[in-house]
Amino acid sequence: MYRSHNCGELRASHINNEVTLAGWVQKSRDKGFIVWVDLRDRYGITQLVFDEERTPKTMMEKAQKLGREFVIQVTGTVIERASKNPNIPTGDIEILVSKLTILNDALLPPFTIEDKTDGGEDIRMKYRYLDIRRNPVKNSLIFRHKVTQEVRNYLSKEGFIEVETPYLIKSTPEGARDFVVPSRMNKGEFYALPQSPQTFKQLLMVGGMDKYFQIVKCFRDEDLRADRQPEFTQIDCEMAFVEQEDILNAFEGLTRHLLKEVNGVTIDKFPRMLYDDAMRLYGNDKPDIRFGMQFGELNEVAQHKDFGVFNNAELVVGIAVPGGNSYTRKEIDKLIDWVKRPQVGALGMVYCRCNDDGSYKSSVDKFYDQDDLAKWAEVTGAKPGDLICVLSGDKNKVRAQLSALRMELAERLGLRKPNEFAPLWVIDFPLLEWDEETERYHAMHHPFTSPKPGQLELLETNPGDVKANAYDLVLNGNEIGGGSIRIHDKKTQSLMFDYLGFTPEEAKAQFGFLMDAFQYGAPPHGGLAFGLDRLVAILGGQETIRDFIAFPKNNSGRDVMIDAPAPIDDEQLEELSLKLNLKS
Ligand code: ASP
Repeated sequence: MYRSHNCGELRASHINNEVTLAGWVQKSRDKGFIVWVDLRDRYGITQLVFDEERTPKTMMEKAQKLGREFVIQVTGTVIERASKNPNIPTGDIEILVSKLTILNDALLPPFTIEDKTDGGEDIRMKYRYLDIRRNPVKNSLIFRHKVTQEVRNYLSKEGFIEVETPYLIKSTPEGARDFVVPSRMNKGEFYALPQSPQTFKQLLMVGGMDKYFQIVKCFRDEDLRADRQPEFTQIDCEMAFVEQEDILNAFEGLTRHLLKEVNGVTIDKFPRMLYDDAMRLYGNDKPDIRFGMQFGELNEVAQHKDFGVFNNAELVVGIAVPGGNSYTRKEIDKLIDWVKRPQVGALGMVYCRCNDDGSYKSSVDKFYDQDDLAKWAEVTGAKPGDLICVLSGDKNKVRAQLSALRMELAERLGLRKPNEFAPLWVIDFPLLEWDEETERYHAMHHPFTSPKPGQLELLETNPGDVKANAYDLVLNGNEIGGGSIRIHDKKTQSLMFDYLGFTPEEAKAQFGFLMDAFQYGAPPHGGLAFGLDRLVAILGGQETIRDFIAFPKNNSGRDVMIDAPAPIDDEQLEELSLKLNLKS
């Protein structure tokens, strides 16, 4: 038996008990005649004591040599501490050690194993196994376990079956590049790793498994924007014989359950917002509704004067910054510089101070009088003491820019409180999205998404206006889930592939199996997938997913601990019939 107790459980009630503990040396304090050692394991820290009077000399010497992170086992008696430590649960007691075994020594760790470590991100990733010993990472992993456990409990109780789907498959169109795997047995052919189990879960519906879920790895080879991972986890779900309403209710239930069980937060019905309204009011399809600062479109009240910048703009739109009139001129100039950064890309910003006496002072007073500015205030909801920030230009661009400014200001004003939760559904997404680069329409969600009833004809005339049976679940300004009601007949699916620019041959080669299946009695179905990493991070009150992943990759998609990806040797290349053609 390595241990009778763990390092977090002994209390005053255990005094005089003989116990055996095992763990890591967090630190030791050697006063010469007395040595204290903090022994740590997953559960906590227990203080060990060795002293000249009660500890044999050889053991005393051994204790004095213990280094940080040595793995030891001790047997001893629980005694009352002379000076108690109210900051830790085991702070009333210590162990007077009678037997000390060094199970393994340890090199000095390259960073301190403390909550606030001196190790930077890179070194912590290289020695991730040491990082995992630290409370913040350890607790995040335990938290993730709790969330996945609750997901499984809830969905199982609701009659969902967890089914595994294969990883060695062929392309699934979720809009990213595939990771591919060469096949030794089928020379010159490749598997693709799933970007999601999308087609398989639809086939499970054809197979009659009417309520499916899976906590599953997905793989997308895309440029890693901040806080994305090339492999990530979804809670993937699908249901048959359902309409959009059934799906929204089912997964609102799951989310409500998680918020309740994990965060102790009770939330009633989740609000629903049309995609068009989200874009109009927040400039964004994943609005953070923990705070206001809704957009006010100003075209009508700002395009009647001689200000060419506004007159030539497709959209003039503003937000009211609460208390923003207190900003100095210098602070406002900094804000203007902020929106002009290339990452945001605005050409400039017009502002209007709302003075406490009800008067206005704007950066365009030359063109607009007090009555005009009062209208701006009315449209943006600005009150005396606020600052109105106005951007103008191309509709889509300007919305994205003002949305970035809104989030930035909210962050600065402390309005994005991590322990406040504001979920909502964004519904009625467009079916298609115009891609500037390829000058073509792409499926906004994926090509299996069904258009709203009666809208199929619009595809011919106004493809961009067709709405889909597609929805996203948004939490605190993040998309945590998304899905759709699917097409379930071959004719519509072929039509869709056709609109998306697939030739019938391409469609057959890539997705023939799905369209074949649709001919054998496919039930109406739909589903969604949650991004588990992000969901866990948000429930955990964090914005970054890395600490909730045991072994994450860095921004270049590398695992710096195991040093992957890595070259393979010639023999292996030969076996796979592959030849490298590297251009430096
Ligand atoms: N497969 C989709 C995704 O990964 C989710 C869904 O439509 O169910 O975003």
